[in-house]
Amino acid sequence: MALRFVSRGQWGAKPPKSVTKRAPSDLLGVAVHWFGTPRAAASHEGCAALLRSVQGTHMGPGGLGVASGGSDIAYNHAVCPHGKAFTLRGFGVQTGANGDSASNRDFAAVVFMAGTGDETPSPEALETLAEVIRMWQKKGAGPLVKPHRFFTGSDCPGPDLLGWVGLKPPPWKGRKATAARTPVRDETPDWLLDFIHWRLADGGDRKLRPKGLPKPLPASAHEAAARVERMVNLMGPQESFLDWAAWRLAGQKKEERPRSVPQQIPKVWRDAFRRLEKVFAGGSTSPARAASAAATDTGPVGRQTSLVAEPRATRAQLERHMLARPHGEYTETNVRRILGRYLTASKAAGLDPLIVVSQMILETGNLTSFWSQVPRRNPAGIGVTGEPDVGISFPSWDAAVRAHVGRLLAYAIAKDGESPAQRELIDEALAVRPLSETLRGVAPTLEGLAGTWAADPKYDGKIARIANEIRASSA
Ligand SMILES: [Zn+2]
Ligand SMILES: [Zn+2]
Repeated sequence: MALRFVSRGQWGAKPPKSVTKRAPSDLLGVAVHWFGTPRAAASHEGCAALLRSVQGTHMGPGGLGVASGGSDIAYNHAVCPHGKAFTLRGFGVQTGANGDSASNRDFAAVVFMAGTGDETPSPEALETLAEVIRMWQKKGAGPLVKPHRFFTGSDCPGPDLLGWVGLKPPPWKGRKATAARTPVRDETPDWLLDFIHWRLADGGDRKLRPKGLPKPLPASAHEAAARVERMVNLMGPQESFLDWAAWRLAGQKKEERPRSVPQQIPKVWRDAFRRLEKVFAGGSTSPARAASAAATDTGPVGRQTSLVAEPRATRAQLERHMLARPHGEYTETNVRRILGRYLTASKAAGLDPLIVVSQMILETGNLTSFWSQVPRRNPAGIGVTGEPDVGISFPSWDAAVRAHVGRLLAYAIAKDGESPAQRELIDEALAVRPLSETLRGVAPTLEGLAGTWAADPKYDGKIARIANEIRASSA
């Protein structure tokens, strides 16, 4: 069947802002999409306008995940429920629809112009879709046809097309084509690994194509490359994820936030980062903690000392320091218990307990201040302004310590730089007393607390002095 595409001029497309070329023969195959939203046009007369509006969304501010908007409507081709095919980016141009850089590089994107609740695609429309796929294959694209869900885990392209893409034999294959089989002599032939390495490591660059690949390549080889790539790329767009992870590991200073990192950190990134932390958690050292501990040497505590770090003092050092000084109405056992809570909560939050406890000692005069006594139990001047009766009381030291640690963590880590566990603690602490957005992440190191947590410009130095006294006592 000779398929005629409705051209860009015919549907009234705006010209693209830029074009990234990608030859069909460089692709592993075709990804199938639907709109989800918007839904299908009521009649074919509305199809061109529907495409223009989708193009407007994709190219508008924030479109396709780009602040200034995407370069063009995301897909290569569209098929409408009335059985017509449209040229969008067309053949030979890289798509922006598949979800990340690897899948955009490896697969064309064809969208079915319908969404949630629309009618099941007609046989005529499905035949047009099959023909568009065959045309990509004739132009050299690999044999894979994947639902968009394969790359992102989304619902796309909806229940009907998910079923259609999975049909055996595939609806886009003629009966003769399915009969052609590639003989397989070895289960893992050398060329297969060469092929996968070339696709993944060399980006399928034609100049680097390994010699000795069979012709034609069996579909299973394309399938193997696509699956390995998905495993490698589960965390999403690689470059910006790595930028984000590196920034996190370097202490996530607000002014160093990489431009490539999106405003909203996707949940998959946090999950992936947590998985990586687990993978690299040899002993109890997460890469984040190892990096920040390494970043601040083991010398004396100073203005540049990171708050997020491995403990720099032992429990015995902390106890000896506090118990050697007056500690208000608290007994020795009380003090030990309070310190125990600080050690547990600080380590769970990733903060160095030495810094947190030193701040508590400064704020409460080693637990002698009015606000630190029962029944107020305020460990760090939280909400205390100096006016009579203005401050926050805590029902238990457990609640008090969590509020202190969570609040300090909010100062130490920029918004969206925190792990889910850290976020929970921060949310809990900021529910006790809100924190201005402008103060989030101002104190990756001690000096950030001066003038913010307390008005005192020498606040950081005072905490550092206590911390160094504690460290000076033998462990
Ligand atoms: Zn999709
Ligand atoms: Zn139509």
